[in-house]
Amino acid sequence: MSDPTSEMNLRLLALYPEQMNIYADRGNIIFLQRRCEWRGLGFSYAAAGPGEDFDPVAHDLVYIGGGQDRDQVLVAEDMLRTKRDAIAEAVEDGAVLLAVCGGYQLLGHRYQLGQQSIRGLGIADLETVRGEGERLIGNIAIEADLGAGPKVLAGFENHGGRTHLGAGAEPLGRVLHGHGNDGADGREGVRRLNMVGTYMHGPLLPKNAWLADHLISLALRRRTGDAVELTPLDDDLERAAHEGARHAAERG
Ligand code: GLN
Repeated sequence: MSDPTSEMNLRLLALYPEQMNIYADRGNIIFLQRRCEWRGLGFSYAAAGPGEDFDPVAHDLVYIGGGQDRDQVLVAEDMLRTKRDAIAEAVEDGAVLLAVCGGYQLLGHRYQLGQQSIRGLGIADLETVRGEGERLIGNIAIEADLGAGPKVLAGFENHGGRTHLGAGAEPLGRVLHGHGNDGADGREGVRRLNMVGTYMHGPLLPKNAWLADHLISLALRRRTGDAVELTPLDDDLERAAHEGARHAAERG
């Protein structure tokens, strides 16, 4: 067990890990843990499930995965009641928030499921509508610039909801292959401060190690107040996973 008082310690909080873990999204957490451990950095894991609140200053990376519509309905109501303020406070204070698919949809103002309107956290200017159309399924690649020039993210998407960004909202990236937020406007995901929302599963991070490292750096910087230089790792397998996902997206 690493020393949670050490500053070089990634403090991760998983939201609803039992309810929101579709397509092995918890693989993202394992990957973050491994990349910290391989570098001799500490990693501490905490979870907040139904009915539980949390201390917004005690975690530097908050994670929520994807989920089916019925799980989202339950989670959304509970999350608004027990966690909304802490999540918003953590994000405003520079904590990293990574939200995938069902979790991403819940960052917005609402998720309209037919007649049912599910209120979201309202921390990203977007809303999602589940219409009559077909699910948006398949391999996807996008181009995202998170500050170090454009880079590719590759993964898999499967969502019935169409997400529409508000006028001022910034997408995570531009779709190269696949559907993205709504299958129409060529945009994928959202980013604001150190918050990233995306439809990309896979799980996402093992196929896109550069994003995992970017999030680790941001989280450690929030903790220590200093820029953190991460030791390079032997990424042969990660590169192969990325190339495989990217080629799958190119083939359509
Ligand atoms: N239930 C949501 C949808 O279908 C999200 C699905 C997911 O997380 N893969 O749009």
